[in-house]
Amino acid sequence: MYAQANMISKVSNPAFVLHDHSPEDVARATILGLQKEPFFIFDMDEAYRRIQYFKHKLPRVQIFYAMKANDGELMLKLAVATGLGFDCASIHEIHKILRLNVPPTDIIYAVTMKTPEQMMYARQSGVKRATFDSPSELVKLKEYWPDVELLLRISVKSDSVYQLGIKFGCNFETEATDLLDKAACMGLRVAGVAFHVGSTCLSPESYLKALQQARYLFDYEAKAGRTMRILDIGGGFFCDDNLFEQATSVIRKGLDELFPGPNVQIVAEPGRYICETACNLYCNINNVKTITKNDKPLNMVYINDGLHGSLRSFEKWHTIHKFELETTKHEELEDTILWGPTSDPRDCLTEVQLPRCTPRDWLVFKTQGAYASTFSSKFCGFGLVQTRFLISFDLW
Ligand code: PLP
Repeated sequence: MYAQANMISKVSNPAFVLHDHSPEDVARATILGLQKEPFFIFDMDEAYRRIQYFKHKLPRVQIFYAMKANDGELMLKLAVATGLGFDCASIHEIHKILRLNVPPTDIIYAVTMKTPEQMMYARQSGVKRATFDSPSELVKLKEYWPDVELLLRISVKSDSVYQLGIKFGCNFETEATDLLDKAACMGLRVAGVAFHVGSTCLSPESYLKALQQARYLFDYEAKAGRTMRILDIGGGFFCDDNLFEQATSVIRKGLDELFPGPNVQIVAEPGRYICETACNLYCNINNVKTITKNDKPLNMVYINDGLHGSLRSFEKWHTIHKFELETTKHEELEDTILWGPTSDPRDCLTEVQLPRCTPRDWLVFKTQGAYASTFSSKFCGFGLVQTRFLISFDLW
């Protein structure tokens, strides 16, 4: 059905080349091959389509893939093969990406609070760019990484599921220009502005507001006789088609109006958008019991992955189905509560309507390619869930 393609990579996690079969066929074959542990099926063609579509919608924007979303070795290799740069959030990520022979100049160390040791490691590795948002970070940078090209991260208010602005970024009104002046006084070079509207951004107009603030700061620097030439518009792109269309249309118009011409390099750091829809998680059911809640039956279904494993960032827009190994007749849906396998009573995923399940049945959690494997912990001794990467013959 599918051939193992060791030729695609020398890494320990090879991809499988599909010949006229779907990722679901591979999942079914895996289960029938007596798989018991949970597993991911990662469709590299889907991630490839997302990368190409992002480039198509924002042709002026260079992608620096936020590898924190999914750092599976073949996801990273796909990103390298399609010419992406990388947003690294730690020196461990920098180390991992340099091992794939990515030039250090294709990395942004997008963290605003780095230790001296981390700065020295990045500098010695040849990384050139990093973000900052505070005066104390400038003091450290002056001592340990004086030749860095800095991006001033500004905080953005938005309607986002993950509000990164409450933790990162300086206040545009009260802090931004002071920080620019301070960096200049210290002889540090600020090469541009960075922002992140928050992960899974539901308010596309937030990008425009942030672009306007960035424009103001570019002009401020120009008046002071200093030139900035990089604009980093971060991530936050949702996989929902409608919202993606709206966000990219706002950004395209905003860039054309506020940053016309080729003098400013525009980069983005999408994570979730690239990999979320590429991957499904398959979980086996350990046990089922039925209780009575509010005078109604409720099926308690215990599965072999949960909040402390791959499902920590399980969200309300993710769908769950019973994974049928063969076609079955339509079954009635029943009230069901899903529990993870650990001893923590908070390891409870969601209440959902599912057909009656029995131990050894399988559930599939759709679109688990982002922040699932990378969030996973080892609580109660459970290990990382294996990913099976698939690629079509054509793309391979
Ligand atoms: N860049 C930075 C600095 C981030 O902190 C994150 C996510 O936390 C990303 C990019 C990726 O964001 P997203 O997955 O929403 O595209």
